[in-house]
Amino acid sequence: MPLLFKKIKDLRNYLKSLRCEKKEIGFVPTMGYLHEGHRALIRTARNQNDVVVVSIFVNPTQFGEGEDYDRYPRDLNRDLAICEEEGVDVVFAPEVSEIYPKGYRTKVCVGELGKVLEGAFRPGHFDGVATIVVKLFNIVQPDRAYFGEKDYQQLKIIQQVVEDLNIPVEIVPIPTVRERDGLACSSRNVYLSPEERESALSLYKSFLLAEKMIKSGERDAERIKEAIKAFIESHPHVTGIDYVEITDENLNPKKVVEKGDRILLAVRIGNTRLIDNWKVEI
Ligand code: AMP
Repeated sequence: MPLLFKKIKDLRNYLKSLRCEKKEIGFVPTMGYLHEGHRALIRTARNQNDVVVVSIFVNPTQFGEGEDYDRYPRDLNRDLAICEEEGVDVVFAPEVSEIYPKGYRTKVCVGELGKVLEGAFRPGHFDGVATIVVKLFNIVQPDRAYFGEKDYQQLKIIQQVVEDLNIPVEIVPIPTVRERDGLACSSRNVYLSPEERESALSLYKSFLLAEKMIKSGERDAERIKEAIKAFIESHPHVTGIDYVEITDENLNPKKVVEKGDRILLAVRIGNTRLIDNWKVEI
């Protein structure tokens, strides 16, 4: 079983002794309810470090009003069992009051990159993400930290924060893990009814459609985005498309699509909001 810590002080003391032994620490921050995507991050961390630390914390400050903070799935025992299977050494699962004690005030503001795409629909979300990640980096002081491309904008923002604030950690990106039929693994997939899950597959299928258009010579981003929207909207249970965007690898919008660009989207299926993205390979 991994060692479980709930208090910052105890975790710090333990990791300090390991650092004295010159052990390299790999860190995987999560909100728990672990799945194959998280396992991929953990496995890479296991391969590249002496010690693997996983944090499990549903961070309230990255959820907006009316979002799913209260109903977000939580099951610490299930997560601990998965961590054990993956050879995790340490799990950090603090209470909210441990991370944001009374009188807590400071936050990290990520600026423009946090206001586009996801940020336009979830104001303050990325400030909340950056704040918790910087706090966790200061608590764990890892050599490397692992982030999924599933949350592509989050990954780019964390890379920017680490560079801007000179945080001595190597950010390791991990490609998106999908279920057998192509649906991107997500803790939020448990919200989907079987019929909704079927419609949720349209996100992945729309990427294949875009690839096909691009392979047959289409380069106009607007036309590709329209085709993606029309395809997704043709499915039942789709209650809204927040955005479909095509950008370069640094999230700058593109008019003419090239190899290495990203298609990013957010779609609501029933009451569930899903995000996904795709790297254009021509
Ligand atoms: P979360 O618990 O959803 O906050 O995710 C924790 C980390 O796992 C983040 O770095 C996510 O990008 C990553 N992650 C979540 N889903 C996937 C996936 N399907 N494939 C790869 N990484 C993922």
